[in-house]
Amino acid sequence: MQTRRQFIQKAGLTTLAAVNLPFAESFSGSVFPKEDKVLRVAIMGLGSYGTRVAEAMQDCKRAKLVGVISGTPSKIESWKEKYDIPAKNCYNYENFDQIKDNPDIDAVYVITPNSLHKPYSIRVAQAGKHVICEKPMALNAAEGKEMVDACKKAGVHLLIGYRMHFEAKTLEVVKRQRAGQFGKTLFFQGLSGFIIGDPNQWRLKKELSGGGSMMDIGIYSVNGARYMLGEEPTWVTAQEVKTDPVKFKEGVDETITFQMGFPSGAVASCLSTYSLNNLDKFFLNGTKGFAEMQPSTGYGPIQAWTNQGPIEAEHITHQTTQMDEMAQIILDGKKPFIPVDGEEGLRDMVIIDAIYEAVRTGEKVKLA
Ligand code: NAD
Repeated sequence: MQTRRQFIQKAGLTTLAAVNLPFAESFSGSVFPKEDKVLRVAIMGLGSYGTRVAEAMQDCKRAKLVGVISGTPSKIESWKEKYDIPAKNCYNYENFDQIKDNPDIDAVYVITPNSLHKPYSIRVAQAGKHVICEKPMALNAAEGKEMVDACKKAGVHLLIGYRMHFEAKTLEVVKRQRAGQFGKTLFFQGLSGFIIGDPNQWRLKKELSGGGSMMDIGIYSVNGARYMLGEEPTWVTAQEVKTDPVKFKEGVDETITFQMGFPSGAVASCLSTYSLNNLDKFFLNGTKGFAEMQPSTGYGPIQAWTNQGPIEAEHITHQTTQMDEMAQIILDGKKPFIPVDGEEGLRDMVIIDAIYEAVRTGEKVKLA
């Protein structure tokens, strides 16, 4: 096994002095592999995000793209060639249960429209392979719970594609919050949105997406409030605004504002929308200071600063770090600082269910 110094030299990491992350764990994650074992991953759903993940995985040290699952033969052909994927590791949505007999694939990354996350993740688990599933993990909490139970029963990991949980500046802000640098944090603001294009895409079809902006982008503010404050909310209130009822049909939310209350007395005030660009900001305020991030959850580089000045760290493609870290979770039993397991995904689904209920009823919804 190589030493830490050899690894730094090999990885060209001579610029450690250029970062100012006092709370970071000396690059313990993807930079210092515990062993050489690599997580062999098949991607299911070769769309725009699947393509981004595949590209990012080319720089991974602990994870490797070795297979594909797709309903489009021409995509399989081009991915086989581009990523040197053997024919025996290529499946479609009808036959992918046979992956159980393939010893060369450890995990399947489900990157399909939201409504397919549950059925496909459960089939992957039943085939005995670890599941990595995109956010939102399912259409609602009941489905998410079924996924958690199925993966437990099959004895496989279920990880949700929360790439921000491994992003250096995000982790630094979170570690400073946990260390008390901002004092008692009593307010979080999360703004998440973009202008959605093609009106015919699956994101605007309730049966495929499960909702609208909240399922797709608002989930970042839900999830961000939880990791930035380090608490679980006990109530939510929410209001919906719709300016285009043709594009955003019944059950597909265009814009939702929502508030969450936390046991410490902290409150979160958030906006989720499909009708504004440049809306990607987190603000955390405490009795002794603040942290601000903008952009806060886009593909980066993330920008973060506090009342003490900017936070600096090298930008690494989020999905590269995510897959190297997830490989260590699955292969080495590494515990991430912010969890990415099925229960973590399920907490967001419970809150999103409550937000939709609050919109529907106009009532404050209590969370257990
Ligand atoms: P996309 O439309 O670009 O790709 C979806 C893929 O699923 C396509 O290849 C499509 O052919 C395939 N598919 C299989 N069955 C389908 C069906 N019945 N209907 C439509 N498509 C079908 O979407 P995307 O942007 O790649 O999003 C996929 C998932 O990834 C979503 O759950 C989304 O929330 C998630 N995502 C996550 C991030 C992130 O940063 N973590 C970013 C983008 C998307």
